[in-house]
Amino acid sequence: MNIKPFPETGCIHALTLPLPGMQDLICSNMYVLGTGPVTLIDSAPKFQGSLSTVQRQLADIGFSWADVERIVITHGHIDHFGLVGQIRSQAGHEIPCYIHEEDRWRLGSDHLKSGMWSEESDLFAAMAGMPAKEVELMKRRSHFFKNLCDPVDDALIMRDKDTFTGEGYELTVIHTPGHSPGCCCLYESVQQVLFSGDHLIKHITPNPFHEIYRSRLRDKSYQSLRVYLESLDRIEGIAARYVFPGHGEHIEDLGGLISGYREHHRERTETLGALLKNGPQQLYGLVGEIFPHIGAGEASLAVSEILVHLEILMNEGRAVLSDDGPPALYAAS
Ligand SMILES: [Zn+2]
Repeated sequence: MNIKPFPETGCIHALTLPLPGMQDLICSNMYVLGTGPVTLIDSAPKFQGSLSTVQRQLADIGFSWADVERIVITHGHIDHFGLVGQIRSQAGHEIPCYIHEEDRWRLGSDHLKSGMWSEESDLFAAMAGMPAKEVELMKRRSHFFKNLCDPVDDALIMRDKDTFTGEGYELTVIHTPGHSPGCCCLYESVQQVLFSGDHLIKHITPNPFHEIYRSRLRDKSYQSLRVYLESLDRIEGIAARYVFPGHGEHIEDLGGLISGYREHHRERTETLGALLKNGPQQLYGLVGEIFPHIGAGEASLAVSEILVHLEILMNEGRAVLSDDGPPALYAAS
């Protein structure tokens, strides 16, 4: 792992954990705020030895888990709350843990015990035309991920504009749905640092995942890429000296990064629009065209990405769902 050191920012410190087998993410970042007691932002996935790796880094800045007074989680994916259970048991006192209400259920025992797989996952796979061997790989992947965390059943809810303050820092929650429905950024106004979770990452374009668990959504018309782009609009004008993401290096050019994302998504939408002109298509059938170098077990991510772009084309009146399926067929209009 070779990333530039994070800049000095008063009482804000980064803890970084290498991610074996997840090279595309480089590393998971956790952040420590305050002079003690401290607030933690996110907690990395629970690989063997993860806790002691970040514990050594915490000790280097003069703290132990006992100094943690709260944990704020940017969103409900396991690589952001994996170590919460272990940190809490090491601390020797209650540590409240906060997450946006739209993602709270993802931390719970029920969801994790199911291997993060449900009837809705099967329906989605059928709708997308995924072959059985791909579905099997998806399931295995899901089961692997669920072992990288302990459930958190008592998470407290945070909402847009809520604040968390302590000695030397003031954090404000900014709800930025898209990567997940409850995804939040946190703006620290003293040092002007934006903690972006997976909403902004320097070295990759974050994936606005199609939301399979439709029954969990309050807004049934939720469309990941549409709301992701709206969330970019929300944070574009923020006075941030630095952006500290959930993975990889810090970011200095917030505006430049956002323009690049918009361009990337627009290009992909246009590529898809052109492919539909060849006649009605299944989602899985488009994977090879858009992602020719896809790895084993990654077809589900590709299908999700294709669907969120198709939703944009349908919003623009340029594509239609021509057959409900399963598998569903999409056509140019
Ligand atoms: Zn992540």
